[in-house]
Amino acid sequence: MLAKPVIPLTSIAPRDAMPARLPPNGKRFFIWTIGCQMNEADSAKVAAMLQEVGYTKTDDEQDADIVVLNSCVVRQAAEDKVAGKLNNLARLKRQKPDMPLVLTGCMVTKQQEKLKERFPHVDLFFDPSEFDKLQRVVPELSMLDDDLDSLPHYYQPEAEAGQSGVTAYVPIIYGCNFLCSYCIVPYRRGKETSRPFANIVNEVSRLVAAGVREVTLLGQTVNAYGHDLPGTPSLAELLTAIDAIDGLERLRFLTSHPKYMGDDIIDAMAGLRTACEHMNLPVQAGDNEVLRRMRRTYTRDTWMERIAYTRQRMPDATIATDIIVGFPGETEAQFMQTYDMLERTRCDKVHLAMYSPRPGTLSARWEDDIPHEEKFRRHQALEALQERICTDINSKRLGQRYEVLVEGRSKGRWTGRTRGNTLVHFDDDRELLGKLVEVDISRTSPWFLMATPVGTPR
Ligand code: SAH
Ligand code: SF4
Repeated sequence: MLAKPVIPLTSIAPRDAMPARLPPNGKRFFIWTIGCQMNEADSAKVAAMLQEVGYTKTDDEQDADIVVLNSCVVRQAAEDKVAGKLNNLARLKRQKPDMPLVLTGCMVTKQQEKLKERFPHVDLFFDPSEFDKLQRVVPELSMLDDDLDSLPHYYQPEAEAGQSGVTAYVPIIYGCNFLCSYCIVPYRRGKETSRPFANIVNEVSRLVAAGVREVTLLGQTVNAYGHDLPGTPSLAELLTAIDAIDGLERLRFLTSHPKYMGDDIIDAMAGLRTACEHMNLPVQAGDNEVLRRMRRTYTRDTWMERIAYTRQRMPDATIATDIIVGFPGETEAQFMQTYDMLERTRCDKVHLAMYSPRPGTLSARWEDDIPHEEKFRRHQALEALQERICTDINSKRLGQRYEVLVEGRSKGRWTGRTRGNTLVHFDDDRELLGKLVEVDISRTSPWFLMATPVGTPR
């Protein structure tokens, strides 16, 4: 049951069929992005906005008439990269003083005077909820005001090397209501705000009409979707509505929080045609005391039980998770709990991070007492474990048949993913970009599969 009537889809023209609002104006934009998929989606939105008013994309900042940096501060290493990039751009800005230099993403705080002091050559700071601020440096954008939410987080790249408009990210909920003790995201992205149900369904319809075959719904807590909307629609209901869109082949969502991973969502995944059998469920640690100090609000058993239920409903489901090693006070025994949990669960993908204190968060007040070398050792230990697990999981895929959605070319080969999100490469002389191709796995490695295409691509 939908909470709200969906706007008739026929009223929306595919993006290809819709000319940009202004003809090309000869100006070029350069966007630099680091961080999570949400940042990539936000950058795609900025690109779409600029294209609507006549700008074209360039991959060379020297050529640009406007430069936008989309920043990440989730760990110190990311923040350092952004600062480095900003400092590098000071020279370009001296050569081209009229070229607006814009900073967005999670480095942008409410105290923009401080940022301005640190980076005086930046013309505009805007946080990711304030896209309309871009008008200050690109006045033509004011004509998009009423349509900003309906403008897809997507643009047709101008036949970039190997890239395609085959897959797209669609944010469905912004912000985060949790306060995990290590995490800066809630301070920079604010409270959870779900996008209206109909806007999302319409955006996906437009993307599909423009040729997109796989959509990934995004949120820091994507499975909390809808609790703040009238009628409180759920993620399961949204998946069901999107699944009905003709032409969509694959539907994914990330990142989920274990606390909100109800049976309804897993049942929807199991039952829907497009929903991929792939679960992204960050656990962060395998020890209950560490989880408690991380303020994660669940236990190791909760997470393991959710994975077990996922596998019960979808025996072939692949699992991805996130882990932080070296959290303040993490003992060797507590770390080994994480090791043990990963060994038992056998995830397909683990995103590992060494703990990095973030100013303003709760855990930053605690001593960062695990030395870097020890964090590194724990990181290496889990990486080695994961390599063994992935080697084993993938070796069992030898000779198996999978359907691959071809996303591009890399090193002279076609490259794509299975529904389970495993990377597959294969040789084929045909033009296969955006096609679904059946393949037989001919060689395996821990990180990707090699394959031979069979049958007719569609
Ligand atoms: N909303 C997601 C994660 C968002 S942050 C969740 O609930 O899991 C993305 C990842 O960065 C996290 O999963 C975590 O593994 C890592 N991360 C976040 N803060 C970190 C910190 N202070 N130090 C190291 N890694 C961190
Ligand atoms: Fe950060 Fe926790 Fe929110 Fe994820 S759920 S974004 S880790 S505060």
